[in-house]
Amino acid sequence: MNDMDDPSAPGSVAPKRLTREERTIVAMVALYCRDQHGAEVRRDADGACAECTELLAYARLRLVRCRYGADKPTCAKCPMHCYKPAMRERVREVMRYSGPRMLKSHPVLALAHLVDGRRGGAVDAAGPAAGSAADREPPAG
Ligand code: SF4
Ligand SMILES: [Zn+2]
Repeated sequence: MNDMDDPSAPGSVAPKRLTREERTIVAMVALYCRDQHGAEVRRDADGACAECTELLAYARLRLVRCRYGADKPTCAKCPMHCYKPAMRERVREVMRYSGPRMLKSHPVLALAHLVDGRRGGAVDAAGPAAGSAADREPPAG
């Protein structure tokens, strides 16, 4: 399966929220990368090594193509979840690490994301699609 094999169509998430969610995932990946991938690796302007840049590019693509548009839930509460399994696992790992640390390092983004999570429109009654407590701190979107 390639990256384009999912059912999500290009969405229309409000530009302000899109920007904020993108900033959130960039911050989370950078935090994770800095602490988990060593000081020696080369990083880009987002603070991401090559491996993390790949994940970030994927997350950004998912975000701009989110099928929920203005009703977008946070990804962790998404009943459909458009990430392919391998990427989903990777982004979860980032969230597990960076989620609890975001309040300290990026309080405004962290709080905005909590608010988005509370009002997410497409939340399935069953909760996070993967049913994992690790989803408590969701990806940027
Ligand atoms: S996982 Fe996130 S980006 Fe993908 S459809 Fe759900 S809310 Fe949209
Ligand atoms: Zn990295």
